Amino acid sequence: MEHITGIGVSSGISTGRAVLINSEEPEIRHEKVQIPEKEWERMGEALKECSRQLKEIYEQTLQNIGEGEAEIFDAHLSILQDEEFIGPIKELILNEGQNAEWAVEEVRDKFIEIFEMMDNSYMQQRSTDIRDVARRLLRILQGIRKTEFSGEKAIIVAHDLTPSDTAQLEKDKVLGFIIEVGGVTSHSAIIARSLGIPAVVGVKDILEKIKTGDQLIIDGDRGDIYLNPEQQIIEKYQQKQEAYLQEQEQYQQLKGTWSTTKDGQRVKLAANIGLLAEVDRALENDAEGIGLFRTEFLYMGRSDFPTEDEQFAVYQAAAQKMEGRPVIIRTLDIGGDKDLPYFKFPQESNPFLGFRAIRFCLERTDLFKTQLRAIIRASNYGNIKIMFPMISTVTELLAARSLLDEAKDELQAEGIPFAEDLEVGMMMETPAAAVISDKFAKLVDFFSIGTNDLIQYTTVVDRMNSKVAKLYSPFNPSVLRLIKQIIENAHKNNIWVGICGEAASIPALIPYFVALGVDELSMSSGSILKTKWIIQQLIIEDMEKLIEKVDELDSPKEIKELLEGNFTSKASYCE
Ligand code: PEP
Ligand code: MG
Repeated sequence: MEHITGIGVSSGISTGRAVLINSEEPEIRHEKVQIPEKEWERMGEALKECSRQLKEIYEQTLQNIGEGEAEIFDAHLSILQDEEFIGPIKELILNEGQNAEWAVEEVRDKFIEIFEMMDNSYMQQRSTDIRDVARRLLRILQGIRKTEFSGEKAIIVAHDLTPSDTAQLEKDKVLGFIIEVGGVTSHSAIIARSLGIPAVVGVKDILEKIKTGDQLIIDGDRGDIYLNPEQQIIEKYQQKQEAYLQEQEQYQQLKGTWSTTKDGQRVKLAANIGLLAEVDRALENDAEGIGLFRTEFLYMGRSDFPTEDEQFAVYQAAAQKMEGRPVIIRTLDIGGDKDLPYFKFPQESNPFLGFRAIRFCLERTDLFKTQLRAIIRASNYGNIKIMFPMISTVTELLAARSLLDEAKDELQAEGIPFAEDLEVGMMMETPAAAVISDKFAKLVDFFSIGTNDLIQYTTVVDRMNSKVAKLYSPFNPSVLRLIKQIIENAHKNNIWVGICGEAASIPALIPYFVALGVDELSMSSGSILKTKWIIQQLIIEDMEKLIEKVDELDSPKEIKELLEGNFTSKASYCE
């Protein structure tokens, strides 16, 4: 047995067989063939198989994710039919006698070289497309299957999951995910949470330790992985899993009840989503609204920036599905750990401190305006609110607001209807903003505290760096003091304040946030009912002392122990 740890990013326990998703690059042999015509026939078969696979993925993506994301595979199909790509391959095989793999490699490299010399995001995307298509062709020629996932329920182990990998998975066959890279906010983590599947990410060198067929236990809360576990561990986890399922069943009973403390304080519970498809799960779990719509996922896994109409359709559908409940749409938060395949970000030594989120949008005002127009237009179809990420100066907020006003004026001049009273909020996720939250509170309608970033910037700990993960603590007294100040400043200025970072659903912190008077907690849909249960056990009066005690303590460890002790004394069937 081996005990491996990573970052638990999606709750629950899973036991099952491992299936490795193979993401290795195929090795290419250079050989001259005896009968070039026969080699060209082999190439022809590979081309047919490649186009069959791409058509299948196109359909799956269209159904499971959406048209924008499916387009990427349509672009791949057109490369296969392009004489300019296929012609030179044919020539190298028939005239030079090169084997098919060698010919594909040579033509691929020539195209990539040409495209990458062009300083144009469209052309750079073409080079990514050519690389992807060539990889698929090479795999087919070499008989490498992309995944050994054959149908039995299993735990997926991969280096990373791209949107196309996710689109191809049959969701009801996936018991869990173990991913080598990433952190709580990586694409795969968010997908896992949205599907309600246990997941552990950031597990270094996992592909070297686990083989397909190995028996695994994963704990998506603690980030624990047991490889070929002993009987004793199996039994322990069987019990834990039963208790977990029982607990989940009990939380289901709370559907339709209010999240109110015993002495009557109401806290709204909302859902964080990244894809439109997640709205249904939010509603099933009693979300009173969407507290954070991370729009960057709309920009990923496709071949170009989404148009105004494409975005409008998604925001409008979210607003309509939520039937009047608020939907907070956060403008594009790209950069940091989130790249786009069709846009080359500058090489930065500290991407989280660099060209990210609102900084990117205020420079690429063309793209920002497109998104703002789509959001404003959608506000005519439901209760939409808009929110800006990563604000650190008042100047940035004013610049963003002024572009929003410009977009509104344009739409008004075009006679396009929208909600005049569209609320505007900002993420409170930089210490710079938190420290002057009294000033910001006069300039927006609401705050949403992004603890994921607030922790990393306050404590100077990269949220994706597992080497310093121990220092990344939501119980850090500096972070808690900032959160307290933000809530106080919001209320002094009569605006409401929510928390939408991962800390919003940490059981031991929920009573503390509620005692501070937070108005809304927004989290993965799967955590909402448990949070509701915790809130229903609380008596605010009892907790004033708790806030004082937290203020007195110096270390994250002491605060964690105090809050965990307080939580367990209130909890009966949680943990
Ligand atoms: C946060 O920083 O807490 C947050 C919610 O934003 P993201 O995780 O998308 O950076
Ligand atoms: Mg953030």
